[in-house]
Amino acid sequence: MKIAVLALQGDFAEHETVFAALGHRTLQLRQKRDLQQDFDALILPGGESTVQGKLLRELDMFDELRSRISGGLPVMATCAGLILLAAQILDDPTVHLGTLPVAVRRNAYGRQKESFRTIGNFGPLQNISMSFIRAPQIEFCSPDAEVLAEHGGRITAVRQGRQLAMAFHPELTSDYRTAQYFLNEIVSK
Ligand code: GLN
Repeated sequence: MKIAVLALQGDFAEHETVFAALGHRTLQLRQKRDLQQDFDALILPGGESTVQGKLLRELDMFDELRSRISGGLPVMATCAGLILLAAQILDDPTVHLGTLPVAVRRNAYGRQKESFRTIGNFGPLQNISMSFIRAPQIEFCSPDAEVLAEHGGRITAVRQGRQLAMAFHPELTSDYRTAQYFLNEIVSK
């Protein structure tokens, strides 16, 4: 499989490591012409959603990515990537790609020092290590989205159609089952 990783800012290299370890080719999307390459799935990494959103627009990658995701390109997003996909950012008029019917609140767990790691279930997967770093909370989610993980009464991972998004960073752990789930359940189907 060929996995494209948005590589404008953030922890794209960690995502590449995961998919390479699972035996797949990865390619970096850094500029508009990179979108002409053939790929089976897209990864939106963690980082800073404001910076990534701004660069997507400045580099004129925004419209094409949005229409490909709306058209069914499989996408897996972590943390800032979730914010890029969200249809609504609470207390903020900004909408980036807006393809995922969730409302998120940025930095809802607090600042960097409030970052934490926990273990939780993710859909059928048990005991997944989840790293939350200045993470957003998913406050609302459309009934047609499937909730895959929760922590402290909050939704932390959802899937709708071919979009999979989570508030935490599985790519910062050595447990690659979340990426494998994405490949098996979304990309290969
Ligand atoms: N706080 C960041 C944002 O608002 C997300 C943090 C992350 O991706 N770890 O974009």
